[in-house]
Amino acid sequence: MKTIIITGASRGIGAATALLAAQKGYAVCVNYFQNKTAAMKVVNSIEANGGTAMTYQADISTEEAVVQMFDFVEKEWGYIDALVNNAGILEKQMEFWQMDLARMERIFAVNVMGSFLCAREAVKRMSNKRDGKGGAIVNVSSIASRLGSPFEYVDYAASKGAIDSFTIGLGKEVAAEGIRVNAVRPGLIHTDIHASGGKPNRVHELQHHIPMKRGGEAEEIANAILWLLSDEASFVTATILDVGGGK
Ligand code: NAP
Repeated sequence: MKTIIITGASRGIGAATALLAAQKGYAVCVNYFQNKTAAMKVVNSIEANGGTAMTYQADISTEEAVVQMFDFVEKEWGYIDALVNNAGILEKQMEFWQMDLARMERIFAVNVMGSFLCAREAVKRMSNKRDGKGGAIVNVSSIASRLGSPFEYVDYAASKGAIDSFTIGLGKEVAAEGIRVNAVRPGLIHTDIHASGGKPNRVHELQHHIPMKRGGEAEEIANAILWLLSDEASFVTATILDVGGGK
C-alpha cells in the first residue's frame, strides 16, 4: 500500500485530499495543528470506508516536530511515497505598511519554512541516490502568487511566490532521483481560511470576478493534487497547475 503525509489535513483542501487519497488506496497520515476533533473525523471517515489512516499532531513550522513526524510514519508504515505540503495560513486583511514583523514571520514560518522542512524530510528518504525508491511531492501554492493580493495580504501572496520558485527549483534538483515535485495554485475555494483573513464570505463576494462565476470546492483541488501524485503525471515535474476557474 502506498503511503502519504498530508499537512493540514484536518480541514478544507487537506481534508478533501486525505479522503480522496484514501479512496485511491493510500494509507494517509492526517497531519493537523490544533483541531484534533476535525482530524479524527477525517480518519474515522477513511476507516469507515475500509481505508487506512492515522492522525499526527505537528506544527510544521517546528523542525523537531516535522522530523519526528516523518520518523514516526516511516517506522509505522515502512516508507513514505508521497507528501502534500498543504498546511497554510493567512491573517487579517490590511495594507502592507501596517504589517508587523511578527505577523510576517508567522506567515513565512508556516507557509514557506513548514513546506521546506517537510519537503526536505521527504526528499532525504525518497531519493534513489540514497536508500529511497522515489516518490512525489505536491506543494499547495495559490493564484495569489500571480495576483499579489494588494490591500489584503501581500505577505501571504509573497509566501506563495516562494513556494512557486521552490517547486521549480526542487523539482529540477531531484528530477533524476526518482522524485517529482509539482504545485497546484488554487483560486478562491470554499474553506475556513477566508474567516482567518476576516472575510468569511470572501468567495461569495468575489466570485463574479472569476471567469467561471463561482468559487471552487476543496474536492476540485484534491482531484488536481491526486492527479499530480499519480503515475498518469509520470513525466510532469517542476510544474505549477492553476486550478482557479480561469482566474
Ligand atoms: P483551512 O481550511 O484554513 O485549513 C488549514 C489547515 O492547515 C488546517 O488543517 C490546519 O490545522 C492546518 N494548519 C495550520 N497551521 C498549521 C501548522 N502550523 N502546522 C500544521 N498544520 C497547520 O485552509 P485551506 O483553505 O484548506 O487551505 C489549504 C491550503 O490551500 C493552504 O496552503 C492555502 O494557502 C491554500 N489555498 C487556499 C485557497 C482557498 O481559497 N481556500 C486558495 C489558494 C490557496 P488545524 O485544523 O489543526 O488548525
